[in-house]
Amino acid sequence: TERKRKVGDVIEEVERTLSTPTALLRGISDALVTEMERGLRGDIHCQLKMLISYVDNLPTGDEHGLFYALDLGGTNFRVLRVQLGGREKRVVKQESKEVSIPPHLMVGTSMELFDFIAAALAEFVDTEGGQFHLPEGRQRELGFTFSFPVNQLSISSGTLIKWTKGFSISGTVGEDVVSELSKAMERQGLDMKVSALVNDTVGTLAGGRYLDNDVVAAVILGTGTNAAYVEHANAIPKWTGLLPKSGNMVINTEWGSFKSDKLPLSEYDKAMDFESLNPGEQIYEKMISGMYLGEIVRRILLKLAHDAALFGDVVPPKLEQPFVLRTPDMSAMHHDASHDLKVLGTKLKDIVGVADTSLEVRYITRHICDIVAERGARLAAAGIYGILKKLGRDKVPTDGSPMPRTVIALDGGLYEHYRKFSSCLEATLTDLLGDEAASSLVAKLANDGSGIGASLLAASHSQYQ
Ligand code: ADP
Ligand code: MG
Repeated sequence: TERKRKVGDVIEEVERTLSTPTALLRGISDALVTEMERGLRGDIHCQLKMLISYVDNLPTGDEHGLFYALDLGGTNFRVLRVQLGGREKRVVKQESKEVSIPPHLMVGTSMELFDFIAAALAEFVDTEGGQFHLPEGRQRELGFTFSFPVNQLSISSGTLIKWTKGFSISGTVGEDVVSELSKAMERQGLDMKVSALVNDTVGTLAGGRYLDNDVVAAVILGTGTNAAYVEHANAIPKWTGLLPKSGNMVINTEWGSFKSDKLPLSEYDKAMDFESLNPGEQIYEKMISGMYLGEIVRRILLKLAHDAALFGDVVPPKLEQPFVLRTPDMSAMHHDASHDLKVLGTKLKDIVGVADTSLEVRYITRHICDIVAERGARLAAAGIYGILKKLGRDKVPTDGSPMPRTVIALDGGLYEHYRKFSSCLEATLTDLLGDEAASSLVAKLANDGSGIGASLLAASHSQYQ
């Protein structure tokens, strides 16, 4: 390729089109709140589904007994069992196992996927040891964490609205996922009842509340992104049922599908979206979450290779391959603090296939990672700020009363492992809230809170209650 443009010019353009000044973030938060309100009204044109979870009570600590959970939502799924000991003993014992989903099952048929899951679950149940105790004559019960948008019909049933995050399975949309799972369990000869169907955000919120009474919202930053929070039931116009006794209802925002003119979409975002499995959908998620950040970096590097010969006269063929650069690799490159960026050099060699990159090329690559991660983290912070606004917890009260302590439970591999991402997110939240309001906000890692959360909700909705 000929060098059409200077590297510096392309970088400057990338910096400009991916920038997220604080004023823009405030506008995005406001647009999100407006969409949340529309979603709660049931406006059919709204992108935010604001799904009613049927969870009107979060765990109290009194939950008791043996419960299972199954978490399906990304590249892995987890099975878990816990023995809950009530207020005094809390979680007496817990065991879990992670199973990766063979890629062909992510784009196969519903029955194949659910059979695979049920088989793994049955195998796990077979290893239940003596420390777990099921009272005589009772059926085992399960909390099913299913991290895709579902139209919930009750606490233990709901139909799939659409697949996201690289799943594209025929024959599940419109079906009740609990009945799909139950039929697959029956085919495996596994006698177990699904007592609660929850989104991972709702599970994380429940798990977070079990540990800390001030948890009011949960945010997932993993393969995808989403958030749930506790809403006043009387602030949900589309809810036509009886008002729950608690006066509350957990709402699964499905904020990954947020879309707004205010979101700064670059040419890289637009091209990635266009070529994705779900064009035009999950726009906010595509700018923030782990499935996509590395791919955005790849597209920018490709542009630099094409237009400014970043990697020399030939464009490295491997760089042309969508999704070769995964977010964990991006994160490893970004965190390289060695003086010669050795880790980064090795990654470029292994992933892109260019050996002996100059220090300048390595610095540029790290800078691109920084730009893309920072934008994602700042946009995620704007979302959390929006939820705090919706809850009226974004400002110090003007009547002199103390600012209530507010805890957000966060989970997902991106937040957990990408330190520069999570620290930028937290710094941005402080910036948006101001020091005083920020001092009563706690962002808490709820490591695998969704699994425990689902089992707690299975316990509080047990058929034996
Ligand atoms: P899921 O969202 O699929 O339920 P996780 O919460 O475990 O699963 O998140 C997995 C995602 O987190 C991966 O797809 C990846 O994008 C991201 N991730 C995992 N490890 C890292 C890492 N070290 N750095 C950055 N991102 C990571
Ligand atoms: Mg998950």
